[in-house]
Amino acid sequence: MSRTTAGPEIERLIQLLAKLPGLGPRSARRAALHLLTRRDQLLSPLSDAMRLACERVIVCSTCANVDTQNPCAICRDARRDSSTIVVVEDVSDLWALERSGAVSARYHVLGGTLSALDGRGPEDLNLGTLAERARDPEVKEVILAVNATVEGQTTAHYVTDLLADSDVKVTRLAHGVPVGGELDYLDDGTLAAAIRSRTTF
Ligand code: ZN
Repeated sequence: MSRTTAGPEIERLIQLLAKLPGLGPRSARRAALHLLTRRDQLLSPLSDAMRLACERVIVCSTCANVDTQNPCAICRDARRDSSTIVVVEDVSDLWALERSGAVSARYHVLGGTLSALDGRGPEDLNLGTLAERARDPEVKEVILAVNATVEGQTTAHYVTDLLADSDVKVTRLAHGVPVGGELDYLDDGTLAAAIRSRTTF
């Protein structure tokens, strides 16, 4: 039996922190101690922020982004290009694209990928409303910004078939050499994909 070194309240905090992505039991213990020793500057404001988020965060009924309003700020933003929908697996991917500033369109969050191994089928993803949104005459292009994994690509093929009847152009992100990348360090699959996806210079 493992020995406990703190009271049940602190052990509970550590256990919950250990469930966060990127944190294991050891780093959760370190994070908990960091919070507890900075109660006024960190633990208390964090607790307030989490309670507020818990009370107010909702999922956008249009795109499945998370926000405190429905529709979300992106869906309500009239300056965005409403002719393009960027399909992403998760909200974290939406945030990554927003950080890049590369696109100013609408999004559609699938909430995962198809995976036979994990038993995730089309009914488990947010796909129904995508077909509906793509039928809007204003929508001209759907960009599949899914991960370059087997599951991501399987999902991309499924979405392409799903949208075959709608009058939209379906595109996907390029695969290949990362910005600043050196060819000698790339894996064979990435290099082959870069050759296949070459563009006119
Ligand atoms: Zn939205």
